[in-house]
Amino acid sequence: MNGRWLLTILIVVALVAGAVTGQLLHDPEFNPVDVNCVHKHIQVLQTFDFIGTTVFMGLLKMLIIPLIASSIIVGVTSVGDFSKLGRMGIRTIVYYFATMVIAVVIGLIVVTAMKPGAEMTAAAQSLPDTMYQPDENVASTASGGLAGVTRNLVSQIIPTNIVAAMAEGQVLGVISFSIFFGVVVTLIGDKGTVIVAFFNAVFEVLMKMVHTIMWIAPLGVFALLAWSIARIGLGVFTSAIGKYMIAVVSGLLIHGLLVLPLVLLVFCKTNPYSFMSKMRQALMTALATDSSSATLPVTMDCATGAGQVSKKVAGFVLPLGSTINMDGTALYEAVAVVFMAQAFGIELTMAQLAIVAVTATLAAVGAASIPSAGLVTMVIVVDAVNSNLALSGQPIIPLAAIGLIIGVDRLLDMLRTTVNVWGDAVGAKIIDSLDTDQ
Ligand code: ASP
Repeated sequence: MNGRWLLTILIVVALVAGAVTGQLLHDPEFNPVDVNCVHKHIQVLQTFDFIGTTVFMGLLKMLIIPLIASSIIVGVTSVGDFSKLGRMGIRTIVYYFATMVIAVVIGLIVVTAMKPGAEMTAAAQSLPDTMYQPDENVASTASGGLAGVTRNLVSQIIPTNIVAAMAEGQVLGVISFSIFFGVVVTLIGDKGTVIVAFFNAVFEVLMKMVHTIMWIAPLGVFALLAWSIARIGLGVFTSAIGKYMIAVVSGLLIHGLLVLPLVLLVFCKTNPYSFMSKMRQALMTALATDSSSATLPVTMDCATGAGQVSKKVAGFVLPLGSTINMDGTALYEAVAVVFMAQAFGIELTMAQLAIVAVTATLAAVGAASIPSAGLVTMVIVVDAVNSNLALSGQPIIPLAAIGLIIGVDRLLDMLRTTVNVWGDAVGAKIIDSLDTDQ
C-alpha cells in the first residue's frame, strides 16, 4: 500500500472515530451558544481543541501566507503571456460566479420545496431579541449594504501595507500583491529569472512541509470532529431544526455530487468521481477544519499531485478560489435566510428571492475562508431582504432569527466548507484543461 492510501485510510478511521467519540461525550444540557454554559467534559474538549485547532490547524495555517504568495508568483510567471493570463483570469471569475449562482438556485429550490421553516414558527416567536448580536465590524459592513461590502472588499484588495497584510493574514491583499508582483517579474525579462527560481523552490519546500504535516492529520481530524460533535450531538438531525439541516445538506449533496461532477465531465471529459477521489485528503481536511484557507495547502498538494493540475493553473485558481469561490456557503446562506423568513411567517416573492440569490452570492464572496464566516456575512443577505420587505410594508426578519440556526452551524459549516473546496478543485481542473486545449 502506498503512503497516500495509508494516510487516507487513517484519516477516514479518524473521522469515524471522532464522530463516535464526540457522540459518546455529547452533553445534552450543553448550549454551544451560551458562553456561561459549561460542558460536562470540558477538560477533554479543551484537549481536543488544543490538538485540533492549536496544533493541526495551526501547522497548516502557518503555511498559508508564504504558500499563497509563492504559488501565485510561480503561476503568474509561468503563464508569461498577458493575454493568456487575462483569458485565464476571466474564465476563472466566470466559473466562480456561474457555479455559485447555480448553487444558490439549488438551495432556493430545495428550501422552497421542503419549507423547513414552517415547523419552526413557535420556536421563532419565543426567541429573545438578544439571541444574536453581530460584532461591530460586521454590523457596520452590513449596514452599509452592498456599497459597504464593495468598499470593504476593495480596501482588502489594496492594502496600505503589504507586510502588515501578510502579518495579519489578509489573504486578498496578499493575492493582489502577488499577482501584480508576478506580472512585473515577467516584464523585467532575464533579470527576473532568479526571482522565479527562488519562488519555485519556496513552493516545492512548502509542499514538502504539507506532506510532513499531513501525517498528524488523523489525530487532528479526530480531535476536531470529536470536539464539534460532543458540543452539538448528532441527535440534532432528528430535532425540530433537523429539517432545516436536511434541506442544507440535500442542497449541498446535489451540488457537490451531481452538478459539479457534471460540469467537470462536460468540460474535461474525465471521470469526475475519480478526480474527487484524488482530492480526497483535501476534502476530508475541509470537513474537519471548517476552513478553506487552512485546507489550501492540502488542496494545492492534491491538485498538483494526484489531480494532475498544472502548477501554473493551481497556483492561480486555488488561492483565489479559497477566498472568493464558495459554492457551499452561497447555497447555505440562501437556504438559511429563506428558512428564517419561513419561520417568521414571511412569504418571499420571486423578486425578494432574486435579492436573496444575488446577495447570498456576494456575501459568500465576502466571507473569509475561516470557520463560521458564512454565518457572519449572512447579516448582509438578511439586511438586503429586509430593506425590500420594509419598502413593501411587510414585516422584516429579525436578526435574532440567526439564534435559531447558530447552535447547529458548526455541523453545517463542515459540509459547506467541503463543497467550497471541491468547487475550487473542479475549477482548477477545468481551467487547466481549457488552458492546454487552446
Ligand atoms: N468555513 C467556510 C470556509 O472556510 C466559510 C463559511 O463559513 O461558510 O470555506
